[in-house]
This record gives sequence, structure tokens and C-alpha cells, in this order.
Amino acid sequence: MEKIIEEKNQGTALTLDKDQKNTRNLYIESYGCQMNFSDSEIVASILAQEGFNTTNSLEEADLVLVNTCSIREKAELTVRKRLEKFNAIKKTRPHMRVGVLGCMAERLKSKLLEEEKIVDMVVGPDAYKDLPNLIREVDEGRNAVNVILSKDETYGDVAPVRLNSNGVTAFVSITRGCDNMCTFCVVPFTRGRERSRDPHSIVNEVNELWEKGFKEVTLLGQNVDSYLWYGGGLKKDFDAASAMQKATAVNFANLLELVAVAQPKMRVRFSTSNPQDMTLDVIETMARFRNICNYIHLPVQSGSDRILKAMNRLHTREAYFDLINNIRSILPDCAISQDMITGFPTETEEDHQDTLSLMEYVKYDFGFMFAYSERPGTMAARKLVNNIPEEVKKRRLNEIIELQLKHSFFRTKQHLGKVEEVLIEGTSKKSDLEWMGRNSQNTVVVFPKENYSVGEFVMVRIENCTSATLLGKAVGYSENN
Ligand code: SAM
Repeated sequence: MEKIIEEKNQGTALTLDKDQKNTRNLYIESYGCQMNFSDSEIVASILAQEGFNTTNSLEEADLVLVNTCSIREKAELTVRKRLEKFNAIKKTRPHMRVGVLGCMAERLKSKLLEEEKIVDMVVGPDAYKDLPNLIREVDEGRNAVNVILSKDETYGDVAPVRLNSNGVTAFVSITRGCDNMCTFCVVPFTRGRERSRDPHSIVNEVNELWEKGFKEVTLLGQNVDSYLWYGGGLKKDFDAASAMQKATAVNFANLLELVAVAQPKMRVRFSTSNPQDMTLDVIETMARFRNICNYIHLPVQSGSDRILKAMNRLHTREAYFDLINNIRSILPDCAISQDMITGFPTETEEDHQDTLSLMEYVKYDFGFMFAYSERPGTMAARKLVNNIPEEVKKRRLNEIIELQLKHSFFRTKQHLGKVEEVLIEGTSKKSDLEWMGRNSQNTVVVFPKENYSVGEFVMVRIENCTSATLLGKAVGYSENN
């Protein structure tokens, strides 16, 4: 299974070419979801104006920033371990400053300064424009904290620099925050209420990416289908908007169309879709534009109605099946992936069997599966007892992973013998003689390089597969070049 942010990229230093004018070195590491990796690009862009070049060497860093994730306890433990490593380096570079960004900063606030003695700065996801001031405070010897969540910050006016870019694919952030209040999830507390970014700034960013040679964008948000631009402000305040604002509002289907039309040769992807917010017009828009990829990441979390309700997922198993049926009938070649949580409080064997049977019905192409991790402050932590023993969570997790592997293999086999368009992203991990790219369905395709180049759309005959990868041979260029 191929994650968009692969495990090996978690915590790698993100860098870009040096600007000779800049005199200080920033080392920035990211953990968690694509949104964090995208935010780090915004941070690097803001700090490039403040005299910072990026470096991938901790030993030459003047400022170390770690962009953190709080989604599961393990993610936070990983960051705490990294802070220990930074502490050791700080002993030989006493002027080096360390800042914690992102969800862990927002969740723990100034507690981080007290608990992790080496942290100089704590900055929440809506406060990155304040970084220049915060760094000045730190330079003057004071600790600095800004964890204020915003009603309207979308960083729409910051042109992100592309860190560790392959020059082919890029993330474009379209919403921030989340209003869903799933009872297991810390995101609404760490990233604030949902707001959407001005569609003009999104289309401008996509146009600029195309000018620079990029060939694919992924529109990012916690819940992209809930995108709604009505001139700015929180999604929850839309009801109070003026008649004019309501009449000219742009929803996610409209935005998809704007982006697809602006750059008809650019591939368009999006993530994440929440089943309760995904509408027919989005699926129909996907069908109308060949450059919108046939892939939907559609987390369901559980197949049991009782657990879905306890999670405050605002749809039933039946409604989810209706959505899947609509996707399959309008977009027969569409790949669908899931997120699943095992061992949510009170989950019985019967609930677990419901999850397995839901998976059997959908036969997802990929999946990201997790054991429930209780997060302080969430509704589940406050109201429910985390009563499923760890070994039961693990056993159930292994069962769903095993079933997913079977389904992934079933899905990859459906591609055998077909000729599919692949966008080349870079050299294959396993062989310097082969390219790695993705088809429209987001499945990785590996094939001999011949005379093709990175960034080209190539038609590839699929000859073999594993559960995660398609193997083939190029038969020519796609018309899309
Ligand atoms: N906004 C998306 C949604 O609502 O489906 C994704 C949010 S989250 C960044 C990515 C995934 O992490 C979730 O879909 C869920 O499967 C998992 N996750 C979130 N909170 C969790 C928790 N407390 N324990 C285990 N997994 C969790």
C-alpha cells in the first residue's frame, strides 16, 4: 500500500535550493498528514523572507523546527524522542533554537516549554505569519508562544516554496480546520474551525505550478467536500451570509471545475473526502473532466452503525453503500481507499465483523488502518472508557490489514493487460533502470526507463503486479504531453 506521505518520509528534513543572500540555516522536519508537509512549505516561504536557507544537516542548523502531529499517541512520542536528539546537538551548538509547530504545539501549548526544556518556541497551525516576530523574541532570549486559532487564516496570500519537490506533483491547500467533531479526533481542537480559501488564489497557485513545470496537484483539506467560499469566514457562519454571498458562493464541485478548466492538462487529485459531505455533483464533475483523477480517499472508520454513531460520523453503513454505488455507476474505473480504526470504545466482535463485511462489499484499492488511540480532550476520551484491550485492538487490526491486502491484490490484478496513462514522478526505489509513476487511480506503476523523462505522461502496458505496485512496459507517449 502506498501512502501519499510514505512512512519513510515522516521526519525527513525538507530543503530547497539556497539563496546566497540568506545567512541563517533552518532545519525543518515534518510528521503526520499531507497538510503538515504542505504547511512546512508555507513556513519555509515565510522564513526565506527572514534570511533563512533550508538545510538537511542538523549540525549546521541555527533554527530547528519540527512540524508535529497529534492524531495518535505514537506520533507525539516520536516527536518527543526527536526533541531529545535536538537537545544533544544543542549542547555543541548553544545558539541553536528549537521550535515546535503544528498540532502538538496547539494541543500542549506552553506546557511544551515546561515539559521539554529545550523548546524555545511553540507555534500553532494558524500562527505561522507571526514566526518572524516570535523568532525575534527568541533571539532576544525569551521563549515565544503563539497558539491563537484564527477565523480566517488560510495562507492564501503566501506562495509556498516546494520543499524536496520532485518538480512534478504538488499539494495545494484549499481548506483549514475541521467542523466534523468525530469523537475520536483531535483535529478540530488543534486546527480550529473550518474555513475555505479564496478560489482565485487556489487557481493562481495551480497556474503558477503549471508554469513551473508541475503536472499534478492534490487539493488538500481535512474535509475537502465541505469546501465553501462565500467571501471569507468560517463555514459555520455561512447561514448568516448575505443573499449575494450565498448566490455567488463556490462549493467543492465548482472549485474542482475551476481548477480542471484552468489547466486542462494538469492532473487534479483531492484529499480527504468525508462520506457525509461528498455529493453527487462532485462525482459528476469528476466524470466530466478527464484531468480529474479517478481516485477517492473515502475514510469510513467502521462498518458498524452503532460505532459510526458513537464516533459521530454523520452517516450510516447504508448511506455509505449508496455513495459507493453512485461512485461505481458514474465512475466505473474509480479507485477508492479507506481509513479504518479498530478497537474504538465498546467495539464488539460483531461490530468488527461489520467492518470486515463492509470491506468485503467495497473491496478498497488501498487502506490506512489504525488501532484506536485515546486523545485527551476529545469527546470519546471524556465520555467513553477506552475499554478494548490492546491485544484485541491489534488482532482486529491485523485482520483488517490482511483483508485489505487481499482486496488490494484483487484490485491491482484488474489492471493486468490494460494500457494506462502514467505520470512519471522519479526513479523507482528498487532499480535505477526503472521509472516510478502513478496511474489515474493513484496506483504506483514501475516500468523500464528507455528514453522517457520525469514529468512525462506515458502509456504503459500493465504486465504484472503485486498488491501495491503495477509493473509494465511503456508503449508510447500519452496525448496529454
Ligand atoms: N479528516 C479526515 C476524516 O475525517 O476522515 C482524516 C483525519 S485524520 C488526519 C486521518 C486518519 O487518522 C483518520 O481518518 C482516522 O482513521 C485516523 N485517526 C484519527 N484519530 C484517531 C485516533 N484517535 N486513533 C486512531 N486513529 C485515528
